[in-house]
Amino acid sequence: MLSEREAAKYPFMSRGVELVEGLNLKLEDLADPNYRKVLDRAAERVTEAIVQGVVSARLADPLTELLSYPVAVMFVTLIGEHFLSRRFALAEAVRAYELLQGEYEDKIIQIASDEFRWDLKREPESIDGVIYSLRLAYPDYLRASTGFHEPKWKLVNRKLRDGQVSLTGVEAARLIQVEVENWIKERVSTPSNFALPGPLQKHLDHIRKVFEENRSKLGGSSLPDEVVNEAFPPCMRYCLEGLLSGRRASHMERFGLTSFLVNVGMPIDDMVQLYVSVTDFDEALTRYQIEHIAGLKGARTRYTPPTCNTLRTHGICRNQDAVCKTVTHPLSYYRKKARRLQSKQEEAEPSNTTE
Ligand code: SF4
Repeated sequence: MLSEREAAKYPFMSRGVELVEGLNLKLEDLADPNYRKVLDRAAERVTEAIVQGVVSARLADPLTELLSYPVAVMFVTLIGEHFLSRRFALAEAVRAYELLQGEYEDKIIQIASDEFRWDLKREPESIDGVIYSLRLAYPDYLRASTGFHEPKWKLVNRKLRDGQVSLTGVEAARLIQVEVENWIKERVSTPSNFALPGPLQKHLDHIRKVFEENRSKLGGSSLPDEVVNEAFPPCMRYCLEGLLSGRRASHMERFGLTSFLVNVGMPIDDMVQLYVSVTDFDEALTRYQIEHIAGLKGARTRYTPPTCNTLRTHGICRNQDAVCKTVTHPLSYYRKKARRLQSKQEEAEPSNTTE
C-alpha cells in the first residue's frame, strides 16, 4: 500500500484516489480559506502545464500536493479546451516519468502492475554492458511503445526471451509515462460545466487568462490535432526538403524547422527518427536538443519558430505564395492553410455522400 507521500507523487493512482475520496470533500469546503494552498497549487499545476509543458513535484506538503491534483483536473475540464487537456495530461505524465526515474525497480513494478496490470518482473541481466533489470510481457510492451518510432524501441531491436522484453528501469518509466498520459487524457477530455464558489472561480479565471495569453504561442489556437503536411508554409517545406535531401542545414534552418514541428504537434519520437534517419546526428543529442526546444528540458521554455522577418533575413523565406502575403509568422500560415484545407474537405464531403 502506498503512503500519503507516495500517493502525492502519483496522485492518479488508486491509492491517491481512495485517500481523496476518504476526505469526502465538497466544492463548498474547498472555498474555505484553509484550502487556499490546495487551490493555489491546483492552479499552479495547470499553469505549469500551459507554460512549461511539465508539472513540478512539490512533495514537502504531501496532502496539498495530493488534493491539488483532482482540483487541477476539475479546472482543466471546466476550461474544456481539447488542446489544454492534452497538454495537461502530457505535463502530468512527464512529472510522473521524472519521479519514476528516481524509484527502485520494486516501486516501478508495483505501480505498473497495480495500476496498469502489466506483467513486469525483476530479472537483471547485462546486455552489451548495460544492466536491464526488468522484463515486461511483450503484449504490454507493444501496447505502450506503439507510438515510439525510434529504432531502439522496435521489437526486433529488443532482447526478447520467453515472451518478455528486457528493459532498464528508465525505459520502464518511459513506457509508464505513456500509460499515465493516456489515463489522464481519458479523464480530462470530457468538458464539464458547473458553477464554482467564488474563490475557485477566481483561480479558474486566472488559469483561463494564462491559457489565452499563451495559446497562440503554444500553437493551440485552432491548430489541427494531427499534423497537416499540406499546410506547411513554403519556408518549412524548404527546410524539410533540404533535410530529406541531405543538404547541410544552417543552425537557423534546423531551429526553425524543429520549433515549427514541435508547435504543430509532431511527436518527439517521430522528430528524432526523422533527423536520425536522414543525417548522421547522434540520437541522444538530437533528442536532447528537440526536447530542449519543446520545453521539456533546460529552461522549460517551449520555443516558437522565428517570425517571417527573421526567416527572410536568414534566406529561409522562399517560394512565397498567396497565403504568405497575409501572415507574419509561419505558424499563422499553417493555421490559416489548415483551416482552408479543412473547409474544402467539408465542402467536398456532402457531395461524396450523395453518390
Ligand atoms: S512569408 Fe513567412 S510563411 Fe511564407 S515562406 Fe516566408 S517565412 Fe515562410
